[in-house]
Amino acid sequence: MTNTAGRFGDFGGQYIPETLMSELFDLEAAYEASKRDAGFQRELHELLHNYAGRPSLLYCAEKLSEEVGGARIYLKREDLNHTGSHKINNVLGQCLLAARRGKSRVIAETGAGQHGVATATAAALMGMQCEVFMGREDTERQALNVYRMELLGARVHSVTSGTQTLKDAVNEAMREWVGRIDDTHYVLGSVMGPHPFPTMVRDFQAVISAEAREQILAATGKLPAAVVACVGGGSNAAGMFAHFIADKDVALVGCEAAGRGIASGEHAATIATGEVGVFHGMKSLFCQDADGQIAPVYSISAGLDYPGIGPEHAWLHATGRARYVPVTDEQAVVAFERLSQSEGIIPAIESAHALSYAIELAASLPREDSLIVCLSGRGDKDVAAIGRYRGREVTE
Ligand SMILES: *Cc1c(COP(=O)(O)O)cnc(C)c1O
Repeated sequence: MTNTAGRFGDFGGQYIPETLMSELFDLEAAYEASKRDAGFQRELHELLHNYAGRPSLLYCAEKLSEEVGGARIYLKREDLNHTGSHKINNVLGQCLLAARRGKSRVIAETGAGQHGVATATAAALMGMQCEVFMGREDTERQALNVYRMELLGARVHSVTSGTQTLKDAVNEAMREWVGRIDDTHYVLGSVMGPHPFPTMVRDFQAVISAEAREQILAATGKLPAAVVACVGGGSNAAGMFAHFIADKDVALVGCEAAGRGIASGEHAATIATGEVGVFHGMKSLFCQDADGQIAPVYSISAGLDYPGIGPEHAWLHATGRARYVPVTDEQAVVAFERLSQSEGIIPAIESAHALSYAIELAASLPREDSLIVCLSGRGDKDVAAIGRYRGREVTE
């Protein structure tokens, strides 16, 4: 998928301080070697199966599909993984690689705290030091996750620069990494940043579609009409798309956060509104203001609240292989409630963005077709916020 410079078409690359060049070069070499290393692959497989709970179920949402009246809706249940989302797939891969490279310390950025908690979890398991960078706004909104990370033995740094949110946490983690490459690996949480991260993170997440492709063939005897996933940085979508990219008849759909609506200006819809730029070490699409500065973004969903998108998605969009649709807060909340009530499954509000569009798409397709939605995480973390959205005061 990538050429030697880690490019997806014109996107991707390595826009980094010179002090990081040799570390990224070594990381790429170690990652490439790990793909051919049977011992590494066996150890990762065991962690994914005996610790994280893979393979995840492919669940046919029969009742919901009946109500919608169209294609069968299947859910790839990443919410059932240990720590409650797809994030653990990538974190276990990167931490195992870091341990094998002799690193004793990992750092990570986190928005709502999902990636930070997953990284703290893997670090505890593997006996590594862990420090997590989190915007101060987010440490206040997600105090429970801060304590959860501390309980797991991690140290959480509250980032007070810029808007004090996810993009500033990434800046801070990158700055810290430059100063500590000897003993530290930076566990990036999505398919973003400089090469090799977008490729490496996609490959660790590709287990989602490797399983789902076999599971849907076993269940229905044919490929799905579409696979649908939400897109923040784009890692669960990249993992969900990977093994279907060569199947030209399978539509690939990414759902981005339209917040209070594209016209309101309060959203995080990078594909719908973004421009090409260079930020966080990569060339990709970013939400920018008239001066080319990174624009403030908003979504009800903290996991989709990022002003950019991984370079492979920018390229899948440019080539037309995948399409990307905006989904508003309101549409996501309706889907969140609908899945809870029709199937007894409370999805992450991020995943509910994908579900919302999938329901619309299923209704337009014949009954013999199927589609797969990546249920990227569980919704327990969102219950209080959705309650507040509906005007109910719920304490956490
Ligand atoms: C972090 C997160 C996302 C968004 O990240 P991607 O890299 O776009 O997958 C989506 N869903 C859940 C549950 C998350 O925790």
